[in-house]
Amino acid sequence: MRIVLLGPPGAGKGTQSVVLEEKLGIIQLSTGDMLRSAVASASSIGKQIKSLMESGSLVSDEVIVEMISERISKSDCSNGFILDGCPRTLAQAKALDIMLAKENMALDYVIEMSVDAEKMVQRIVGRFNCQSCGAGYHDEFKTPQTAGTCDHCDKPDFQRRSDDNPETIRKRLKAYDDQTAPLLPFYRDKSLLHTINAMAPIDRVTSDLEAIFC
Ligand code: ADP
Ligand code: ZN
Repeated sequence: MRIVLLGPPGAGKGTQSVVLEEKLGIIQLSTGDMLRSAVASASSIGKQIKSLMESGSLVSDEVIVEMISERISKSDCSNGFILDGCPRTLAQAKALDIMLAKENMALDYVIEMSVDAEKMVQRIVGRFNCQSCGAGYHDEFKTPQTAGTCDHCDKPDFQRRSDDNPETIRKRLKAYDDQTAPLLPFYRDKSLLHTINAMAPIDRVTSDLEAIFC
């Protein structure tokens, strides 16, 4: 099963992907995570990407789709994948279709996670992740069961993203709205689009997603 999760930063794509990965036996491909690990590896492409990401700009369509193409050819994607963070533009959506068609693949579902943009700043400013296992938390909405320790791996090391500050967030939300809005009619016309209310509590969003896939 091949799924795209569409939603602005903070919509809960990462949070829900963790659950869907387990239920559906497919893996999440977060283009943001893939880009951040390229940056951390300090390769030349990583350095280029770094300055773009820190200023809240988008990376070129070619770089993103090429990165996904390489990634989905690996054996752990043979059952499918959940794409989070791509496509962000109509050009990426079209490039993604062409790339998948070359591999004899197609998308099965595109999920629009619909949000109240005003509330996203609060969600993003409060989020943090376990440095060891990547588990996601929130100061207000999803605190670890024991403060300071990861529920999943018991490690005490948490991290916050450097681009999760109010100023960059507003820029990312605006870019999302401007660039991603044209994707909705594109996927609606292909009868792939499902819309869920991502303002509901985390468990409710999960059950709404399960109703679509399971
Ligand atoms: P995205 O991957 O779409 O940018 P995340 O999954 O990182 O978003 O979610 C952003 C933050 O909001 C996280 O700290 C997460 O715990 C929290 N969160 C996710 N979904 C919800 C929800 N439905 N209600 C409240 N908080 C949520
Ligand atoms: Zn952990």
